[in-house]
Amino acid sequence: MTAPPRVLTIAGSDSGGGAGIQADLKTMLALGAHGMSVLTAVTAQNSLGVQGAWELPVEAVRAQYRSVVDDIGVQAVKTGMLSSPELVTVVAGLLSDVAAPVVVDPVSVSKHGDKLLADDALDAVRTALLPVATVATPNLDEVAQLTGITVTDEAGMRRAAARLLTYGPRWVVVKGGHLPGEATDLLTDGEAEHWLRAPRHDNRHTHGTGCTLASAIAVGLAQGHPVPDAVCRAKDYVTAAIAAGFALGAGVGPVDHSW
Ligand code: PLP
Repeated sequence: MTAPPRVLTIAGSDSGGGAGIQADLKTMLALGAHGMSVLTAVTAQNSLGVQGAWELPVEAVRAQYRSVVDDIGVQAVKTGMLSSPELVTVVAGLLSDVAAPVVVDPVSVSKHGDKLLADDALDAVRTALLPVATVATPNLDEVAQLTGITVTDEAGMRRAAARLLTYGPRWVVVKGGHLPGEATDLLTDGEAEHWLRAPRHDNRHTHGTGCTLASAIAVGLAQGHPVPDAVCRAKDYVTAAIAAGFALGAGVGPVDHSW
C-alpha cells in the first residue's frame, strides 16, 4: 500500500467542529491525504460564535512541529489561526526552510466578528509569514487589514492582489465571496491571472469555508498539482461543501465534508 500524501495544518481548534483544525483534518481525509496538526490555540466555539480563546505556549507549538516534521515529514503545510505576533513569528521561522509548499490563510476575524488574530500581529503576517507562503488566501476583510485597500469590485481585487504580492507570497488568492453576485476569486502570481467563478448557493451555513479552501489547496499541492490546478480543485471542493452545509445549533452551521 502506498502512503497517502502527508499534509500538516498549523491552526486553532474549533470545539464546535466546523472550522479550524477540525475543518482542516476533515478536508484532508475527504481528499485522500493523511492530515497532521500543530495546535496553536484552543477556542470554545459553537454555531453562535467564539466564547473563549486560549493560545498555546510557543514551546508547545515548536515541539509539535518538530515531532511531525523530523519523523513523518510533510508534503504540504497550511496555516490558519495564529493568534499573536509571537506565534506568527515563530511559525514563519519554522516554515522558512521547510521543503514543501506552504498555504497561508491569514485568519484574522471569524464570520461572527470574533477576533482570531491580535491587531499588532498584522505586521508580522506581512513581513514574516507572507514571504514564506507559496499561496496566500485572504478574504476581503483580511485584504483590507493587510493592505488598507477596501475592495468593492473586480478591479479592486486586482489592485489588492498586486499589493499583497509585494509582501512576498508566490501566489495570492483574493477571495471575493463577500461581494454580491457570483462567488468570484482571483488567483495570480503577478503574471498569470485566473478568475475562479462559482454560483452563489443560497445557504447561510458556511462556517469553515476559508479553512476548508486552504486545506484543500494544500492537499492538491501535496498531490503534486501545479498551483492553478490545486486552487481550481479546491474551489470545486469548497463550493460543493457549501452547497451541502447544514444547520447545527441555533446559529450558523458548518460546510459539509461528506457529500
Ligand atoms: N475558528 C477557528 C479556529 C478558525 O481557524 C476560523 C477560521 O479560520 C474560524 C473559527 C472562523 O470560521 P468562519 O469565519 O468560517 O466562521
